[in-house]
Amino acid sequence: MADMDTERAAARRDLAVRAAVEQGLVGGADGSEPLVCLLDVAGIRASAAALTGAFAAALPPGTPVLHAFAVKAAPLVPVLALLADAGLGCEVASPGELALARAAGVAPEHTVLDSPAKTPAELREALALGIAVNADNPQELERLDALVASAPTRSPIGVRINPQTGAGTIGALSTATATSKFGTALRDPGAREWLVRAYLDRPWLTRLHVHSGSQGVPPALAAEGVRELHALAEEINAAAGRRQVDTLDIGGGLPVNFGSDAETPTYAQYVAALREAVPALFSGAYGLVTEFGRSLLAKHGLVLSRVEYTKVTGGRPIALTHAGVQLATRTVYAPAAWPLRILPYDAKGAPLTGAPVAQDIAGPACFAGDLLASARELPLLSPGDLIAVPDTGAYAFTAHYGYNSLPRPAVHGFTVTASGEVRFAMARPAQSLTEIAAEAGGGFTRALL
Ligand SMILES: *Cc1c(COP(=O)(O)O)cnc(C)c1O
Repeated sequence: MADMDTERAAARRDLAVRAAVEQGLVGGADGSEPLVCLLDVAGIRASAAALTGAFAAALPPGTPVLHAFAVKAAPLVPVLALLADAGLGCEVASPGELALARAAGVAPEHTVLDSPAKTPAELREALALGIAVNADNPQELERLDALVASAPTRSPIGVRINPQTGAGTIGALSTATATSKFGTALRDPGAREWLVRAYLDRPWLTRLHVHSGSQGVPPALAAEGVRELHALAEEINAAAGRRQVDTLDIGGGLPVNFGSDAETPTYAQYVAALREAVPALFSGAYGLVTEFGRSLLAKHGLVLSRVEYTKVTGGRPIALTHAGVQLATRTVYAPAAWPLRILPYDAKGAPLTGAPVAQDIAGPACFAGDLLASARELPLLSPGDLIAVPDTGAYAFTAHYGYNSLPRPAVHGFTVTASGEVRFAMARPAQSLTEIAAEAGGGFTRALL
């Protein structure tokens, strides 16, 4: 079943690449469309259904569950609206992300605000809207004390804990180390007692939050953080003599396989790891919130770039393309942690075949390290060919990096009809040169004279 889904997704991708060329979204002899980004709408829906299905299968019917998509993974309004249509909400961590969720029509009761540096104004707005808020630290809790006392709110409020269960393989993404910047530490001296007291003193604290998984963190380690969360909730509720904590927000953080089309680990496997580590999570005694990002979107995004030139330098073939650091920032700056596949196609959008040759796949930015792949074995690329970069639907082209004033490329969603016809729908237009100039202070030309 999973293998068939994988094959279908790969078949849809090949159809979409060819159609993108035929319909003029990319390529063109005049060089006008060197770069485009695509999203597989059916794939996104399938991931959303896999997520909701995996938890629904494990929970007693009627258990309240909110799957809030982590907006930072793919901050595009049409994507949020698509996920909302599939029953998901939004996890936001900035006023900009909240604005996107609202623009997508996501209801306040389906929205969760997490951020380590919320301003008083952000907190006030969230409480006025009734959005769920997870406080990061004791100082934020003091701000909330004042706000809750000054005006009634429907917002469910919780505290984010750092379970200090240890790092994964990528340091910059490990949120549960002893000294991580996120949340209130659980294992520091006196911390647990302080947390229990904080809840007993504040009857309006009804949630607990952890987000300890991420790329490089195995599901079993993330599940340990959730076990700590559940144990703390039980301790608070026992001390309170009532079920004060009624909802556990277990964060996101399911890693993604960047090595092949296989979607592993699956949500069902993560649910199994959670059941193993903390069976009581599925008793129905607590409502659940999840905050997955990467695992919902990464596999369904594709960058498609024309090869502009090729050359051989020091014996190494190099393909110069338009896809580089602006679209795959993490891959370029930390290639060992964030490898991406490169799929070669010819100028007509058919898969390119030929004997593999070690080539560098270079981007357009003006620094030597702007490479999506080094010494990658691929059929020898020629000018006019295309490279596709799969698995870029999260934290890649949706997290544009403005180096060299390179424009944000257009994003098109695609669907494939039963007869194999590919239909594209623009989800974000390409950034125009006028917009680039305006963002760069173009309205203030003489300001420094
Ligand atoms: C980034 C983030 C997420 C999403 O993480 P993924 O690894 O993309 O699933 C969820 N919750 C919080 C608090 C985050 O910061």
